[in-house]
This record gives sequence, structure tokens and C-alpha cells, in this order.
Amino acid sequence: MELNSLSDVLIDALGDLYSAEHQLVVALPQMAAAAHSYELREAFESHLDETRGQVERLDQVFVEMGITFPPSKTCKAMAALILEGDDIIAATGDSVAIDAALIGAAQRVEHYEIACYGTASALAGELGLDSTRSLLEQTLEEEGNANKLLTKLAAGGRLSSGINRLAATRSGNDETDDEESSVSPPSAPLT
Ligand code: FE
Ligand code: ZN
Ligand code: FE
Ligand code: FE
Repeated sequence: MELNSLSDVLIDALGDLYSAEHQLVVALPQMAAAAHSYELREAFESHLDETRGQVERLDQVFVEMGITFPPSKTCKAMAALILEGDDIIAATGDSVAIDAALIGAAQRVEHYEIACYGTASALAGELGLDSTRSLLEQTLEEEGNANKLLTKLAAGGRLSSGINRLAATRSGNDETDDEESSVSPPSAPLT
């Protein structure tokens, strides 16, 4: 790789993100299928839709920048984060504990994306590419919201306890205990 300008740095960062988002289009359905909580599955599925839109937004950025072929590269960091997610998808044990672990894996992904889009947006701003920057900021906001939703599912709220609390109050339940595995966390008052 040769980097001679800030523009080269941006194009490389965009190629990395393009790969990362494509990998997530494949990984998110698997995360959704592995989720036991209805809300968590919905969160993964709706972020999958958003992710498809984020790929299109990157296509639009490449068009705006006059780049006919996006740099062909593999985001190694996303590949590794997804591998960690695969370990959780393959895990056996308590359904709520597995959901808590899935949330952790997904939040590592969102934080990585937030870092990358933050960098790319700053580079576009520095280069005066205002329209590109605003496209990247739109995705950055979606990644931030996805992360916040995951925090909310883990932590719970006024009306229901979160997946983390639920997992903490259970122990030794295996996945054959299906009672709670396919329903959303019960509404229990937080005390
Ligand atoms: Fe994304
Ligand atoms: Zn990367
Ligand atoms: Fe680390
Ligand atoms: Fe994301």
C-alpha cells in the first residue's frame, strides 16, 4: 500500500469500511438467528437493514469521489470480531447468558465501526468533501444508535430488567430449558 496524501488515507479507510460492512451483511443474520430474546433478534435484524443501506451509502461516496472501483481489501479487524461472535453463536449453555455474550460481541463491532466512521468523517471534513462527510455522519449516527439500543437491552429500564440482570439471576439453566429462551425478558420491576 502506498499513502501519499490525506485523500489516499481516506480512500483506504473507506475500502476498509466497505469490506467491514459487507462482512456484517453476512454475519448479522447469524447473530439474529442465535439470539434468544425477541428484542435482541429484532435489533440485529433491523441493524441488518441499516447495514445494507450503509453499503449503498458507501457506494454513493465512491461515486461522489470519482472512484470507479472501491479498493479491494479485507477489514481484518472486522473479520476477527466476527470470529469472536462465531464462538458465541456456537456456544451451548444458558440462553440468557448467551444473549448477554452476543450483545457484548455486537457492541465491540459497533464501537469499531464508530471509530472507523469517526476517522473517515474527520478526513472527509479536512479535505473539504462536505457531502461525503455528511453521508459518513449519517452512518455514524446509525452505528451510535445501534450501540445505544444494545446497551439498553443489556441494562434494562424502568419497566423491565435487562438481559444482563436476567442472566445474573439465573444459573446452570441449559438451552433445553426453553421456558424463557424464546420470549422477551419478563417485565419485572427494578428494585
Ligand atoms: Fe455498519
Ligand atoms: Zn478494519
Ligand atoms: Fe483489545
Ligand atoms: Fe453497525
